[in-house]
Amino acid sequence: MPSFRAPRGTRDLLPDASSRLNRLEGLARSLAGRYGYLEMETPMFEQASVFERGIGEVTDVIEKELFRLAPRTEESEAWALRPEATAGIVRAFVQHGMHTWPQPVKLSVVGPMFRYDRPQAGRYRQFWQWDAEAIGDPGPAVDAEMIEMGYRFYVEAGVPEVQVLLNSIGDPACRPDYLERLTTYFRSHDAELPELERRRLQTNPLRLLDSKDPALTPLVADAPKIGDCLCDACAAHFAAVRAHLEAIGVPYRVEPTLVRGLDYYTRTAFEYYRRGAEGQQQALGGGGRYDGLVERLGGRTSPGIGFALGLDRVLLALDETGATAAAEPPPLAVIVGADPADTIARLRVASLLRAEGLRVRAELAPRKLGRQLETASRDHAHFAVIIGDELTEGHVQLKDLEAGTQRLVPLVELARELARAAKSHHHG
Ligand code: AMP
Repeated sequence: MPSFRAPRGTRDLLPDASSRLNRLEGLARSLAGRYGYLEMETPMFEQASVFERGIGEVTDVIEKELFRLAPRTEESEAWALRPEATAGIVRAFVQHGMHTWPQPVKLSVVGPMFRYDRPQAGRYRQFWQWDAEAIGDPGPAVDAEMIEMGYRFYVEAGVPEVQVLLNSIGDPACRPDYLERLTTYFRSHDAELPELERRRLQTNPLRLLDSKDPALTPLVADAPKIGDCLCDACAAHFAAVRAHLEAIGVPYRVEPTLVRGLDYYTRTAFEYYRRGAEGQQQALGGGGRYDGLVERLGGRTSPGIGFALGLDRVLLALDETGATAAAEPPPLAVIVGADPADTIARLRVASLLRAEGLRVRAELAPRKLGRQLETASRDHAHFAVIIGDELTEGHVQLKDLEAGTQRLVPLVELARELARAAKSHHHG
């Protein structure tokens, strides 16, 4: 048993997993580009109050899962690792006066997030998200565009049967009335409420709807629905989002009990699920509109909508469905030498070819040529570059390992020869 291990709730991404994650990150960036979202980065930690303000203090993310940092005892500032990207992006929007940019400002962040959650399948303390935000557009068309962008991500990543669940959670005009009805309803079932939920009823009744406690499921099913309480403006917005989604062919299902656990959401709320896996823990991603958030973080009122798609869950879904990512291609050539000791010559030639952008490996173990060539075949390299006495005249042997042929090539032409061969063999 090794003495040191990756911390609980984290994992090393070994090369295969890392390259699968890279591929998803690449897809996220490519989609962001196609849809006009500009990439940016925010720090991985912020003042804790950015999250407390931006996410809402009565949420699991803040109450239980915020990864607080205490760098030094004399440091007065309270820091926390980012549990999600929206609050940091909106903080940056305000800090850099992005309200003066052409609106809407569409931003994308891909990277790790941290939550001090109880580790379990699909729930890590460090996980990766693709986050996109469109700030400055009240919708509804941009809502549909964003939902479609997320949906396309799953389609292009190869996750089968993804379903969009959709709801509207109203706005400050209609939600207070609804919350009162909801509170009255749950109060009348006070005896059936677990202790934790009874407490939440005081502080954030909406959260009872996405409670993870199965004892609550039948109560939630019969609870008043926000959809029946929307004001005219919210109802019209919701209808328009649905019409846009239908027009662009995004399949969705209205889910009347879907709410988002975070305080700042208004109107459109959505989640992505694998069909048949609509349990609480299984969301692949989700998002929603947050028309009050910019103001809450000190900016001028500005509407916004965003999503966060969990990349780890996509990797898990792809594992389950047996979809495999393309493996790293083999090196085009392995550089070997007749003189086992002359690693300088091998490294020099490799360096020259790498400078030309070629993917090569230098065999650097001081072993016999025959053994060096064996490693070249093991690597599935197409060519071996064999360095021998001819090097003094500026030549090397180029051996085509697949065809079994070999010829003398001037060193100055080697890169060009290999590049040409790579093209015709689709290697590289
Ligand atoms: P949320 O910000 O909670 O709506 O999360 C958005 C998405 O991020 C979820 O749908 C998950 O795919 C992913 N996610 C959230 N928390 C975790 C976690 N602890 N581990 C892995 N993925 C997570």
